[in-house]
Amino acid sequence: MVQFSGYHKMYVFLFIFFLVFLPATRCIATNDHKFHATTHYAFYENMRRWNRTSPIKLNYTFLPEHMIQNLSLADIRLSFQRAFGRWAAVILMTFVETNDANHADIKIGFYFGDHGDGVPFDGPLGQAAHSSPPESGILHLDGSELWAVDENTLKLEGAVDLESVAVHEIGHVLGLRHSTVKNAVMFPYTPIQKRKVNLSKDDVDGIQQLYGVNPNFKPGPNWESSSCSMFMETRTCLGWSMLLAIMMVLPF
Ligand SMILES: [Zn+2]
Ligand SMILES: [Zn+2]
Repeated sequence: MVQFSGYHKMYVFLFIFFLVFLPATRCIATNDHKFHATTHYAFYENMRRWNRTSPIKLNYTFLPEHMIQNLSLADIRLSFQRAFGRWAAVILMTFVETNDANHADIKIGFYFGDHGDGVPFDGPLGQAAHSSPPESGILHLDGSELWAVDENTLKLEGAVDLESVAVHEIGHVLGLRHSTVKNAVMFPYTPIQKRKVNLSKDDVDGIQQLYGVNPNFKPGPNWESSSCSMFMETRTCLGWSMLLAIMMVLPF
């Protein structure tokens, strides 16, 4: 049986150290890079948010004089219910519909062309909506769009999914600016004839920084696949570190 002297032990230690040290630095650097690459959400100046005591409850209303003929209120309501629900699932905030426009925090309406707020709509496609940061609660949709609330309408040329745009605009209303992450709902461009309703990790990280985490929030099965590879690398680092630790305590 080979007996290791103190020097041998030191060589083994150095060998293992370099074996561990090199991949470990690489994975920390990679993790760091990914960390920065995935945090591209943005806030308005001074991190504007709804300053209410937690848990925050916001009322929203559909302005009756600013609804459109070709969409039923029931369909609009459902699209927005789902959209609000997606944000409420990740932060401690509830959204309740009200008919009392005077006391509503968020006022939703469809508008055409120049509608008096200095940001005229441009007709079909182009800009489909705009909103104001906290705590104004203005959410304007372009009445000229071909709004889709179901799969069949979404197949029509130039159709824009109402729920997708609603999720994006609610993000602005809550205090998120545009993100540079393409799969984020806060990315400035919503695809035409497609749905983009799932909050990405970037959206969630951003909104949770403003309002904290909903303790019931559970990431879904497809939650950001890139974080899996990051997790794997972290695990590899841990594996090497464990091996080193075991080698250190083994009696040679
Ligand atoms: Zn407007
Ligand atoms: Zn936007």
